[in-house]
Amino acid sequence: MMEALQDRLGPGSIVTAPEAMARYLVDWRGRYRGIAQAVLKPRDTAEVAAVMEWATATRTPVVPQGGNTGLSGGATPDASGRAVVLSLERMNRIRAIDTEGDTVVAEAGCVLATVQQASRAAGRLLAISLGSEGSCQIGGIVATNAGGINVIRHGMTRDLVLGLEYVLADGTVSRTPSLLRKDNTGYDLRHLLIGSEGTLAVITAASLRLLPAPRGTATALCGVGHPRDALALLGRLRDAGLAAIASFELMCEGEMQLVLDLLPAARTGLANRHRWYVFVETEGDSDEAARESLGAGMAAALENGTVADAVLAQNGRQAAAIWHLRFAVSEANRRTGPGFSYDVSVATAAVPAFLDSIEAELAVALPTARRLFVGHLGDGNMHVNVVPDPVHQEQAGGIEALRPLVDEIVYGTVTADAGSISAEHGIGRLKVAALGKARPAHELALMRAIKASFDPLGILNPGVVLAAT
Ligand code: FAD
Repeated sequence: MMEALQDRLGPGSIVTAPEAMARYLVDWRGRYRGIAQAVLKPRDTAEVAAVMEWATATRTPVVPQGGNTGLSGGATPDASGRAVVLSLERMNRIRAIDTEGDTVVAEAGCVLATVQQASRAAGRLLAISLGSEGSCQIGGIVATNAGGINVIRHGMTRDLVLGLEYVLADGTVSRTPSLLRKDNTGYDLRHLLIGSEGTLAVITAASLRLLPAPRGTATALCGVGHPRDALALLGRLRDAGLAAIASFELMCEGEMQLVLDLLPAARTGLANRHRWYVFVETEGDSDEAARESLGAGMAAALENGTVADAVLAQNGRQAAAIWHLRFAVSEANRRTGPGFSYDVSVATAAVPAFLDSIEAELAVALPTARRLFVGHLGDGNMHVNVVPDPVHQEQAGGIEALRPLVDEIVYGTVTADAGSISAEHGIGRLKVAALGKARPAHELALMRAIKASFDPLGILNPGVVLAAT
């Protein structure tokens, strides 16, 4: 079947050797493994179109893949062996950076950090930053509507996308990502494709909004007694006129311990250990000005007891060392062994009570499990990681036997708080059943209708987001 494609794709575009395919068939956490006929690596949009025409003709399922850093299993094929993985990694050209219109047009396979650096070199900011930025790709962050540490100031990926170039299931190409800031011509299909996780079309390029690079930044790490103190700190910094808060992140002591175990040479810079830690970054007219105002805010918070301890980075190296602790969390969690990970959101003001409630219920239901919390507090988005101890897992008959109990506690609390079961990592394969319970029947029916009109044969990432039919 693959022969029909050979002539239409250039050299190196079809990979079938098992050892060369292996890394495309397992997800970043090692929790999903699949089988594929081949990994296809097109070099341009025309080759992506050729792949999709062939896939339609042969009814072959296609799993688009970017940097393969997704945390919901959406980039991994199933076990049937029928699918092909469509890796965009060779489409990695930055097509244009425009410093008058403040835009960058990048192909789907560009690594996020590369586009950040190119934007910075042009004196502009691509305002999306996440722990996987050295590996995740533009197509992947658009397809998952990724969040990260700058959402509090600049929004999600969705807020930065001006236009998309994409290929439909039948090979039709929608070319030239729009550079328009204003365009009210009918339904905005771009917003359906953002966050569609490879189930509606293959994104081949995106035009993204750039911002003026901040003139200065300041970074601090604080120790606090409770998430409520962290939230109070956020309010106080804003009251003090620190409007330009670029990041506001929360991490529990258990996560910090895992990170320090992973990075033995790293230090928090704080005199003591604390139950919770807050990572803050602010912007200002210069580094000195930003440091001065954040420092004043911290001093006031220390004085009135909101914050127990704080360290203010004095230079870029120290700031990077602080962020290194935050960005190492996913790797530290990956090493804890099998567990359950949740990416949920509630209204920001509700986070402290939400965490108290989950912790209390989990402590009763799984007293010996590790219960770990980290997230983007400024956005109301927390990552909850529950790692049952091995003895409990064995007694229960395997870790999966514990999932319904933990799901019930976490999703039950989220639902009671009118929150979201999927804040930024997407549904993937991991949360298909949970999505089915989280959204009302009429919304699910609309989602299925949208899927069917983009992908009538159901060949684009079947089983991801919605159950395969
Ligand atoms: P992949 O993992 O390859 O794919 C993800 C999904 O997008 C899949 O469903 C895939 O089919 C689809 N897809 C990929 N490319 C395309 C394309 N061109 N066209 C259509 N569909 C496509 N996420 C956050 O939101 N915030 C964070 O702070 C964050 N931190 C992270 C830290 C670490 C260390 C790691 C490993 C992950 C983190 N993530 C975070 C997860 C996050 O979703 C991704 O890193 C990123 O958005 C995925 O990009 P990717 O290129 O790796 O996509």
